[in-house]
Amino acid sequence: MKLNYQIIYSKRKKLGITVERDRSIVVRAPLGFSEQQIQAVLENKKLWLYEKTHHVQKYADEIHPPGKELVSGESMLYLGRNYRLQVFEAEIESISFKQKFIIHKTNHTQANELFKTWYMAKAKQKISPRVELHAKNLGLRYNAVKIAELKYRWGSCTPNDNLIFNWRLIKAPMFVIDYIIVHELAHLIESNHSQYFWRIVKINAPEYEKAKVWLKEHGQLLEQNFGDL
Ligand SMILES: [Zn+2]
Repeated sequence: MKLNYQIIYSKRKKLGITVERDRSIVVRAPLGFSEQQIQAVLENKKLWLYEKTHHVQKYADEIHPPGKELVSGESMLYLGRNYRLQVFEAEIESISFKQKFIIHKTNHTQANELFKTWYMAKAKQKISPRVELHAKNLGLRYNAVKIAELKYRWGSCTPNDNLIFNWRLIKAPMFVIDYIIVHELAHLIESNHSQYFWRIVKINAPEYEKAKVWLKEHGQLLEQNFGDL
C-alpha cells in the first residue's frame, strides 16, 4: 500500500498523524525530522491508517435534511424515539426533558447549542457504561471514551485506544449505538473490515445488520438542527 501524505513541519516535540475529513493523511513533524523517519513511523501505523482512510463514511454525499422548526409540536429524537417539543414563555435556563422537551422562547437563537449540550451530556452518560460493558465482554482494555462532534463518522478509535463517538448517536436507538460501540471496539482487535472483524461484531452486537440498515435509512435524521433561527 502506497501512502500519500502531506508533511507540515513546526516547532513541536512529537510527530502527529491525522486523517482529515477528506481522508487525506497529514503528518505534523518537529523541525529536523527526516522523511525516512516519518516513513518509518507511518509503516508502523499502516494498518491503522489503512482503516482510517478506507473507513466507511456515514454516507457518500452529505445531503442536509430539512431543518427543524423551533415551535411547539415539533418532534425531537432521543434514543430512537420521537419526543415532542414544547416552546414555553416561562423562564427556563436550559432544556428540560420530561417525556417531552421544553425550551424557553428567549433561548431561541441558542436552541441548537442548548440541544447539543443536552445530547452530549446524555451521550456521555449512556454511552460510557455501554462501552465498558462491551469491552468487558470482549476482554478488551481501552483508554478513554470521548463524545465529540464528528463530521463524517459515527465513531472512531485512535492509535492510543481512545474511543470517540459522535454525540448525535444518542438520538439513535440503543441497538444502533451498541453496534457502533462494538464496531469501534472490534477495531482494537482487528483494524480491517475482514470476515474475522464482522464475526467479532456479530457475536457482540447480534443486531448489527439491522443497525446498519437503520443508519442507512435514518442516519440523516440524526443530523437535523433547527434551521433559520
Ligand atoms: Zn470500521
